[in-house]
Amino acid sequence: MSKVFMPAQPDELWGILDENPEAVVYAGGTDLLVRLRSRFTKPDCLVCLERLDDLKGVKADDDDIFIGALTTHREMLNDPIIQKDLHILTHALKQLGSPPIRNMGTLGGNIVTASPAGDTLAPLYILNAQLEIGSRNSTRRAPIESFILGPGKVDLAHGEILSRVVVRKVPKFEVHHYEKVGKRNALACSVVSMATLMNVSSNNLISNIRLAWGSVGPTVLRFGDIEHFLVGKPLTVEGLSEAINMIQELVKPIDDIRATACYRREVAGRLLLRLLKYSV
Ligand SMILES: Cc1cc2nc3c(=O)[nH]c(=O)nc-3n(C[C@H](O)[C@H](O)[C@H](O)COP(=O)(O)OP(=O)(O)OC[C@H]3O[C@@H](n4cnc5c(N)ncnc54)[C@H](O)[C@@H]3O)c2cc1C
Repeated sequence: MSKVFMPAQPDELWGILDENPEAVVYAGGTDLLVRLRSRFTKPDCLVCLERLDDLKGVKADDDDIFIGALTTHREMLNDPIIQKDLHILTHALKQLGSPPIRNMGTLGGNIVTASPAGDTLAPLYILNAQLEIGSRNSTRRAPIESFILGPGKVDLAHGEILSRVVVRKVPKFEVHHYEKVGKRNALACSVVSMATLMNVSSNNLISNIRLAWGSVGPTVLRFGDIEHFLVGKPLTVEGLSEAINMIQELVKPIDDIRATACYRREVAGRLLLRLLKYSV
């Protein structure tokens, strides 16, 4: 039986972590408690973060949007700042789990779980999200792509927690697109996902684009060369076809119970064709 602490103040949290070097923190518990039940992990000491109000909510200043790590998926979906400026996240959150999972699961938990199928991750990669990591005496910032090291692996030491996510407000993108291919329409883990931010000029040329794929590698994948290649190309089947081939060569999918690597490779490229609906 694990000891469970529920600190309500940061000092209380740091004290518990100092005294319990094996302690494992959790937020909504929708990942961790499932793993405990399946006996994949059996910590002696659990620390529930849910009473730490400083880690909750969405704020903005002139330049940045700040999302507390303990903000639930439901709270983000209902937040006016996210609704106004971060549609890419709302598209992804609407497809994450089910209402009970969105009520309990948090942004921080989705990031630290570091599943290549985590639905908020591809959007956060193309938003160039920075993560704030707090400890007793300091706060450091890291880009999401250097924080996530592989499936279930993140750059987080004992005594550190993910405290908030920071997203720059510029540049602005007209198109925010998130597409998840799963084995069914609801409550499905993604087999492939693609997040896109894009601007298209009045003569139907791509003027700016960011792309990231989930579930086709050990972490979310983003290819600067493909983004660069697509700028200035017409948003047509012909304009996208070479990039589709490039994506299919670059992704690194595996076979697993949900899909074959071959299927994932094919779909990862072809998801680009979904962007044709934004043609002008
Ligand atoms: C039925 C079901 C369906 C699901 N469907 C989806 C889905 O469609 N898409 C998807 O992406 N996910 C899905 N999930 C997974 C899960 O709900 C999400 O990843 C959720 O965002 C996890 O958040 P949490 O707060 O519950 O994490 P927790 O379970 O509390 O924690 C997860 C991990 O993060 C760590 N952690 C949590 N918060 C912090 C923090 N602030 N600082 C440091 N470490 C922290 C914990 O130690 C743990 O290792 C599903 C889960 C279930 C049970």
